[in-house]
Amino acid sequence: MSTKKNKTSPDSVLSLFHVSKDYQLGDETLRVLDDVSLEIKSGELVAIIGPSGSGKSTLMHIMGLLDRQSKGTVTLAGRDVSDLSEAEAARLRNHYVGFIFQQFNLLPRTSSVENVLLPTIYNGGDAKLLQQKAIKILSELGLDQRLGNYPNQLSGGQQQRVAIARALINDPAVIFADEPTGNLDSKSGHEVVEILKNLNKQGRTIVIVTHDPELAKMAHRIIHIFDGRIKSDKRKKL
Ligand code: ADP
Ligand code: MG
Repeated sequence: MSTKKNKTSPDSVLSLFHVSKDYQLGDETLRVLDDVSLEIKSGELVAIIGPSGSGKSTLMHIMGLLDRQSKGTVTLAGRDVSDLSEAEAARLRNHYVGFIFQQFNLLPRTSSVENVLLPTIYNGGDAKLLQQKAIKILSELGLDQRLGNYPNQLSGGQQQRVAIARALINDPAVIFADEPTGNLDSKSGHEVVEILKNLNKQGRTIVIVTHDPELAKMAHRIIHIFDGRIKSDKRKKL
């Protein structure tokens, strides 16, 4: 793997340098991200906000190695990850990145514990220990009575907590959450907000894509995206 040096600071978890993303639609090139540069530092709680269609999810997918940029460089944990094979990207993704999605994206007919263990399939190591870890994380999220349940036996809030546990199982360098409260009633949404806040207090680096003002409000840094460009990137004084 290339270890080309970029201008990242030592506490940088992830950086984008002049990243663009184009889609080819017939003869037309649609530029969905346009020259985006940013750096996420260890321990940050970042909200990415912007109107629908502005490129937030595309940006998150590129930062999380779920998608490839058309131009520019992505650095994760100090490594240039711009030109990885699919297999290498999958391995790094499982190791360094946790995802929480609006639709939870749990596997159906699969228990909470098994869903949480999904990102560990390439880990090797002691399956029993991993299972104990999954149970511990689920229990800390209040799901100790729901370990063997399938997603369709859980409420939306419970499903999202399983997804949060899945995002945590490999102790990733960064957790991405794309509209994590978008499919929840306000009470469950509030619980998810509190969980994310606490995880950040424990030192987790979290990037949230959101329309939800309550979610954006708790962030220490707010990045505004408009038409695929960063319109502003502001840190709050703490
Ligand atoms: P947001 O998450 O801010 O709502 P997205 O990142 O999902 O925005 O989408 C940004 C733009 O990219 C939208 O105009 C969307 O239609 C377009 N887009 C996303 N994926 C594709 C694709 N696979 N092919 C073509 N256009 C796409
Ligand atoms: Mg989106």
